[in-house]
Amino acid sequence: MAKKNTREEIVLKGIAAAPGIAAGQAFLMDQPDFIVPERSILDEEVPVEIARFEEAVSHTKSEILTIRDKISKEAGTKDAQIFDAHLLVLEDCMLIDEVIKRIKTWKFSAEHTFSLVLKRYIEIFQNIQDEYIKERSSDVSDIGRRVLKHLMGESRVHDFDSFTDDIVIVAHDISPSDAVSMYNKKILGFLTDIGGQTAHTAIIAKSLGVPAVLGLKDATLHISNGDYIIIDGRKGFVILHPSEETKHLYLKEKDKLAEVEGSFSNIKDAPGETIDGRRVSLLANFEIHGELPAVKRQGAEGIGLYRTEFFYMNRLDLPSEEEQYQAYRKIAEEMNPHPVIIRTLDLGGDKFLSSIQLPKEMTPFLGSRAIRLCLEEQEIFRTQLRAILRASSHGNVGMMYPMIAGPGELRAANAVLADVKKRLRDKGVPFNENMPVGVMIEVPGAAMTADLLAQEVNFFSIGTNDLIQYTLAVDRANEKMAQFYEPGHPAVLRLIRRTVNAAHDAGIKVSVCGEMAGDLTLAIVLLGLGVDSFSMSPTTIPRIKRAVRSLKFSDVEELARQALKLSTGHEVVDFMVTEIKKIVPDFYMYDAQNK
Ligand code: PEP
Ligand code: MG
Repeated sequence: MAKKNTREEIVLKGIAAAPGIAAGQAFLMDQPDFIVPERSILDEEVPVEIARFEEAVSHTKSEILTIRDKISKEAGTKDAQIFDAHLLVLEDCMLIDEVIKRIKTWKFSAEHTFSLVLKRYIEIFQNIQDEYIKERSSDVSDIGRRVLKHLMGESRVHDFDSFTDDIVIVAHDISPSDAVSMYNKKILGFLTDIGGQTAHTAIIAKSLGVPAVLGLKDATLHISNGDYIIIDGRKGFVILHPSEETKHLYLKEKDKLAEVEGSFSNIKDAPGETIDGRRVSLLANFEIHGELPAVKRQGAEGIGLYRTEFFYMNRLDLPSEEEQYQAYRKIAEEMNPHPVIIRTLDLGGDKFLSSIQLPKEMTPFLGSRAIRLCLEEQEIFRTQLRAILRASSHGNVGMMYPMIAGPGELRAANAVLADVKKRLRDKGVPFNENMPVGVMIEVPGAAMTADLLAQEVNFFSIGTNDLIQYTLAVDRANEKMAQFYEPGHPAVLRLIRRTVNAAHDAGIKVSVCGEMAGDLTLAIVLLGLGVDSFSMSPTTIPRIKRAVRSLKFSDVEELARQALKLSTGHEVVDFMVTEIKKIVPDFYMYDAQNK
């Protein structure tokens, strides 16, 4: 399968999203639409293709009816209405008859014919000036995808298992749910044209433990299926048609990296403690259930952020209370006595589900996301709260709400929690009455009201990925904005300092669970600002632990004080790198970016 390299080496530069080096064959994934190969048919195959099409439509109808009934039971008939619109599309004789007519005249397979007719339909809808009708085009494309799935089988589209060689995924974009579906598959790494460093796709790449380079702008135009490519996720490089010399260099570098990973094993069980005795907890962020062994292997002292929304992805129904309870319980028991902080559902923004149809919004990151959505869709929220509470009697479970903007939202969420607790109590269902409840500080409104919030919660967890995005008005998933995404920006550091001080004044602890906690330089700024625990991708824990153990807290506090006086994020990083190197010359020994 390997092609002989007769072309010139090309280096593409993107955003370093998940560390590591991978080398292998490129596989271009056509996203987000289905790949529908053109297949001509013979006259005698026409009736078979029509029958296949009709069967796919009928399967799709039953699938939608099942989802509609389930949602209607769990969330009420209002929420199930969206599926009525989907059923109408399937009952639209014009669409169905047109496909049947075209199969007869064009003599293409059912799926190819359907995809052509569907595209025309969507275009017509999108060109209509009426906003309501325009919106219906998303119903048509959604339903179209479902029918195609029945015609082609999902496996035709993302059948990673069928590859005989390991592959590097190349795509214009990969959604977080697509990224999750790559877990345990023959995937060496991935790269995309769009996406930023803290996009959820980048976060999932880290959980998968594969290198990723995002935001390459037009990589899909340069790379073809089967091309041999190298990706360097530490520096954000992709090397297309590498020369023998480049290949050799990278393979050597890869071996060196593996050696470095191995060398961390000697500090696995050591505490995260500075030379002068400041103790911090190093915890893991958790997205995919199979990650648990990695969490333990890397010496995590607990799970500081369990992003539960990934549990809801890649399925057509919502996880039931029992299913969630069993999953949360298992993790709580496996990690016991270490803490497991379960974050309630954070949907919206760049994370969507097939089972919940959300109206399209102009700016989804500022729309019905996370706690707002949960307060609107209370049955979904209550189901999750019951599952978390029940799991709390099996280990050291805490819970936190995402995207709280101030005390009002916190109280609204806590009112639902209190009611769920009461009902469980009345039924005699066991749970931990004192389960710690915290909020994520990831909206400037929350940071500015941290003193008020601190009176009503047990802990804070700062979500810097969103805090940076909302403070600096920079879309975290937009590669074009990457230069403005400055974690060390004085506004961000001041909000973090304010949050830490408010927490400590109220006698509660504060953690950071955004990507900043796993960045060698920025984690030291956070340490100096007084953050008590750091939660990050499990593979990053040893590096940060080594860094914490190599410094004195008194020095780090002074560096943070100085950093707070600087005017830009870039100045902060330059200052910190220079000063840290003066104290520990080999601090960046294992880090490709700051060497
Ligand atoms: C954050 O915003 O920093 C965070 C940890 O949450 P998420 O990345 O899932 O939005
Ligand atoms: Mg967030």
